[in-house]
Amino acid sequence: MRIHQLSPLDAVASLKSTAAGLCCAEVERRLHEYGRNEVEKVVRAPVWLRFIKEFTTFFSLILWVAAGLAFFADWSDPGQDMAKVGYAIVTVILVSGLFSFWQEYRVEQTLAALRKLLPQQAQVLREGKVTRVPAEQLVPGDIVHLEQGDKIPADCRLIEAFGARVNNAAVTGESLPKMREAGPSEADNLIDSKNIVLAGTLMVSGQAKVVVFATGVHTEFGKIAHLTQTAGEEVSPLRKEIAHLSRLTAILAVLIGLLFFSLGWMIGIPFWKAFIFAIGIIVAMVPEGLLPTLTLALVLATQRMAKRNVLIRYLPSVETLGSTTVICTDKTGTLTQGNMMVRRLYLGKTLDSPAGVKEKKGLVDLYQPFFLTAWMCHDLKETGGHGKSAFLGDPMEVALVEMARDLGSGLPVYPRLDEIAFDADRMRLSTVHQAPEGAVLYCKGAPESVLPLCQHVIIDGEIQLLDIEIKASIVQAQDAMAYQGLRVLAFACRKLAVGYDRERLEEDLVFVGLAGLEDPPRPEVPEALRKCQEAGIKVIMVTGDHPGTATAIAREIGMVKSDNPTIITGEQLRRFSSIQLQLALDAQEVIFARVVADQKMRIVEALKKKRHIVAVTGDGVNDAPALKAAHIGIAMGIAGTDVAKEAADMVLLDDNFASIVNAIEEGRAVFENIRKFLTYVLVHNVAELIPYLGFLLFKIPLALTPIQALSIDMGSDTLAALGLGIERPDPQIMRRPPRPQSERLMNWPLAFRAYLFLGLIEAAAAMAAFFFVLNGAGWKYGQNLAAQDPVYMQATTACLSTIIVMQIVNVFLCRSATRSVFSTGFLGNSLIILGVISEIAILLLINYTPWGNSFLGTAPIGEEVWGFVIPFAAAMFILEELRKWLARKRLLNPSSRSDV
Ligand code: ADP
Ligand code: MG
Repeated sequence: MRIHQLSPLDAVASLKSTAAGLCCAEVERRLHEYGRNEVEKVVRAPVWLRFIKEFTTFFSLILWVAAGLAFFADWSDPGQDMAKVGYAIVTVILVSGLFSFWQEYRVEQTLAALRKLLPQQAQVLREGKVTRVPAEQLVPGDIVHLEQGDKIPADCRLIEAFGARVNNAAVTGESLPKMREAGPSEADNLIDSKNIVLAGTLMVSGQAKVVVFATGVHTEFGKIAHLTQTAGEEVSPLRKEIAHLSRLTAILAVLIGLLFFSLGWMIGIPFWKAFIFAIGIIVAMVPEGLLPTLTLALVLATQRMAKRNVLIRYLPSVETLGSTTVICTDKTGTLTQGNMMVRRLYLGKTLDSPAGVKEKKGLVDLYQPFFLTAWMCHDLKETGGHGKSAFLGDPMEVALVEMARDLGSGLPVYPRLDEIAFDADRMRLSTVHQAPEGAVLYCKGAPESVLPLCQHVIIDGEIQLLDIEIKASIVQAQDAMAYQGLRVLAFACRKLAVGYDRERLEEDLVFVGLAGLEDPPRPEVPEALRKCQEAGIKVIMVTGDHPGTATAIAREIGMVKSDNPTIITGEQLRRFSSIQLQLALDAQEVIFARVVADQKMRIVEALKKKRHIVAVTGDGVNDAPALKAAHIGIAMGIAGTDVAKEAADMVLLDDNFASIVNAIEEGRAVFENIRKFLTYVLVHNVAELIPYLGFLLFKIPLALTPIQALSIDMGSDTLAALGLGIERPDPQIMRRPPRPQSERLMNWPLAFRAYLFLGLIEAAAAMAAFFFVLNGAGWKYGQNLAAQDPVYMQATTACLSTIIVMQIVNVFLCRSATRSVFSTGFLGNSLIILGVISEIAILLLINYTPWGNSFLGTAPIGEEVWGFVIPFAAAMFILEELRKWLARKRLLNPSSRSDV
């Protein structure tokens, strides 16, 4: 018989396992025999194919054609040195191809390392003890506990289930949740059977104990995994924009190249020479490294984020993060530490501290039902047998159980018969246990959720009718605790009749008491909130907790400063129209309390309608829709369920609110860095273009040959430019309002600064150096120079060297668009330092080595030329400092933004 047709006990036995799980030696053996519980890695294109791909990009294709034509020219018309040009172009293609291959490789390695940071865990029973292990260590025969929100780690047969429902979408495509139960099934098909849960699917509610029968590639998911892994990666907005920008400039460059080509031909330049000019212009104008740099910048940003406890699941969200305007955050565990301590107890008529209760020994006996409820009504797993053991699960439940154990010593354990699971919408949990005198129900939850179910109350050991007066005093006690920032839970129980009706369990309860738990704020949070305020990011608390607790905590962390913040409860929200909600969201300080998950969704939608870029946190199964709807869905790494993590764009490994703010900072930096990169590259493009304009329009000898231009684009400037692309966030970056979504990468200030300011200064310096050498040799305007003329070679070398010297200065200028070099500094970015070293090395190479001379058609320039260049470099430095100073002055006007 197949596993779904057996009884639960037979199913376990058929896998040679026991009710206490496997022993560790056997696990070891099975792990060896059946392999790790993982699905094979994605089959990627082979390395050599990806290597080849780097040499077939649009830009390399242009260059290949150019090289081919150069060789053809040499063959058809020898003696023009065209073959050398061809070799040089091929070298450039190879160098740049290798460089982008290295970039891609680095990206892949980093992404692979990041993926390992969030391993899936499973609660497994082995040798009678429950432990958490990485899911890939599961073996057939393992007994696993599943709860609401778990991603199912292997193909399993249920042996016990309470209200279990699964979503099979990942395997069957069917997205409606399905009930699952433990009994044997008649179904022919394993997949359709009601007692089977499949790897990769999600447990959307309830709890279950299961036995694993297939792992890794043997699972149904493993069998289809190769089909799903081919899904393409989505393209981010910034990537689209850069692709667009690159295409635009490439087309423009080709058009201008063609124009110059025809112009040159018309004024009588030999065909091949004109052709090489056209190539030079195209090369000069295309910002070729932009796309790989963006990817690398994004990936390195995610790596830095991971160090700051933020795991990005979806690369483009890094950019979106940078424009976040509002964060909707949970309270418990995110703003607070999630370290719960029971501070107050309300038993009968008085509010007491646990220590106070302990002293009055009689109280514990009179209120035994209270302690039994706290002791048994939970979803914790004991790690290691009975007695004084540790618990696995929600820290609040741990605190309550430990309180009950400490005060009500020697509490019995009644076996659990059933449960109605907690979820953030019900705000309560009920469990049914087998007591000696019959079945009992224990219930705990938010007082608003539990109190309406109660008809009676225990006061001093007597069961009384719960009248309005007593109810009022309970609510009063709750408020008193809540306004001190305590989280309040109500407890109730009920004796069940034989053959109780599962549908009507939670009614006619007996109220037994309240507990107030303290959960101190995280120490980093006030500073993070201050940063948000400076950065123009609004923070809205959305909690399932009591409004009093929420406000008290908000005040403590500095989220609320005014006397009357806007506090909206789920109750009120239900009556709000969309317009009312949108208007309410205009308030400075907004707190949503006692809201349920679908209301979180409503809040997100309303904020989106107000054109906000919304980041929202969540942990439960019910949070998944809101996480998906928001621009940035943020799941909790510790307290979060697998369902929430699957729906989220990023995961907070430490559940800490402050980490969100750090991530936003990194996200903003990516955009700024791409702009720095762009500015730097555009400046040399101008300096490369002007010599052609001079040549064609004013009949000046060509100051920079195409190969020399290529040596800047593909040689000297690459590392420094990349260094700018991956700079650390600027300290000022969180002192600015969020970037509007409509803002383009290339804007007028950037174009002005790069093309008309820095670019022209650099071009002027390069041309001046060119003429300086020519004049020194007695050249007169209109005189023609042969390509091999030593004077001409020296003059172009002066031009090229000047551009490189200016770019060495420029890389430091580009580190900020507004801040002085003296505040951004010269050190701190090792890639920039490396870039500068490589520029100096290339300067020496092209000037003083025969190899460099013959390759680039250069000749060593004299000391006087170096001396001539320095004032220009200094002038660019001073002028840019002056421009930045003026830009900063304008900044005093708060409406203007301070980036490029
Ligand atoms: P928060 O927004 O603070 O994370 P939750 O949505 O997790 O709040 O919980 C909402 C309310 O549900 C809590 O204020 C508490 O009263 C109740 N609650 C939370 N966890 C449990 C639990 N494990 N058992 C019973 N009730 C709970
Ligand atoms: Mg919560």
